[in-house]
Amino acid sequence: MASFYLHVPFCRRACHYCDFHFSTKLDYIDRMVIAMTEEMRLRKTDWQEATFNTLYLGGGTPSVLSKQQLLVLKNAALAHYSFTSDFEFTLEVNPEDVNEDQIMSWKEAGVNRLSIGLQSFEDRDLKLMNRAHSSEDSLRSLQLAVNHFDRVSVDVIYGIPGQSDELLQNGINKVVAIGATHVSAYALTVEPKTALASYIEKELIPDIDEEQAERQFLVVLDTLTSKGFEHYEISNFALPGHYSVNNSSYWKGISYVGIGPSAHGFDGKSRYWNIAQNHKYMNAIEGGILNFESEELTIKDRYNEFVMTSLRTQWGVSYQDLESEFGTPYLNYFKMMITPFLLDALLFEEEGVIRATRKGKFLIDGIASELFMVELKTNRT
Ligand code: SF4
Repeated sequence: MASFYLHVPFCRRACHYCDFHFSTKLDYIDRMVIAMTEEMRLRKTDWQEATFNTLYLGGGTPSVLSKQQLLVLKNAALAHYSFTSDFEFTLEVNPEDVNEDQIMSWKEAGVNRLSIGLQSFEDRDLKLMNRAHSSEDSLRSLQLAVNHFDRVSVDVIYGIPGQSDELLQNGINKVVAIGATHVSAYALTVEPKTALASYIEKELIPDIDEEQAERQFLVVLDTLTSKGFEHYEISNFALPGHYSVNNSSYWKGISYVGIGPSAHGFDGKSRYWNIAQNHKYMNAIEGGILNFESEELTIKDRYNEFVMTSLRTQWGVSYQDLESEFGTPYLNYFKMMITPFLLDALLFEEEGVIRATRKGKFLIDGIASELFMVELKTNRT
């Protein structure tokens, strides 16, 4: 199975913390949609053998699309690629776009899973991040979504300067009480060249507090797991049976095609990434050319990715899988490198599988990067 990602590079407003690729000029969405359908046509020969079990529209803000534009993208994907009959069809939406009419048009287009960029139930937090919606929109959109969809995911941000643990916990309790089946929770991070970075530098906003972020990660984890959610990836929680097929595929190293400006794709051996500029992307496609870069992953690159993605999940790193995929020298290297983290109780071993402890979870990206292969002499490259 493979995954299919469509990047819709438009947003109504620029959130202060965001470094994703998008434009707030919305007057050429039709032209972009046509270019993306053309990219699907141009790429299809590389994916003739693949069957896709998930179609994911992310961005950007895919809920800026009209029903017609959404259908054009979906129909092109189905016309050129092979999908399972019950594929997961996720649409990322922002609360300000959710209303009865839109919900019905998404359902009619075949969407069967909504992912709402809710982020917070507090106006103060939403304002600080320059979100385009209010706390009232957060409540209303989630309620409407669960009235009509069985699978509803929400994004939540913690570690926001000045955010209280108590209000964060109240927000998570609301998400669960209203009926979300999946929660993606992210620590607010300061990306270079964002408005947030500049406000912090000018001392208009306090800097991110790592202790607060770590504490609030545990607030989210404890609140959701006490309500029956499974912590299946470091930033992702789901009720049983509601894991995201799309996200799980990335973590399991499954191939994916990415369509749209800045989208990435991976065929199991090499990765490509499209140019992250809307007009250059469209101009190239209109001239029959795909504007992208690519790289072939070495065994070392694949090992590093395997360690990072596996340690972030509840499935962990299996010695057996690691050895069969990369060979004994890589297994020995991994065992050597994890020793200090086992001693510090940041990782633990159970029946040949290494996972993060509660203490190690928040630090897992840093731990995983310490285990990366920088140089190893073997006859495999
Ligand atoms: S809506 Fe999402 S993609 Fe758009 S600016 Fe905000 S965080 Fe970034």
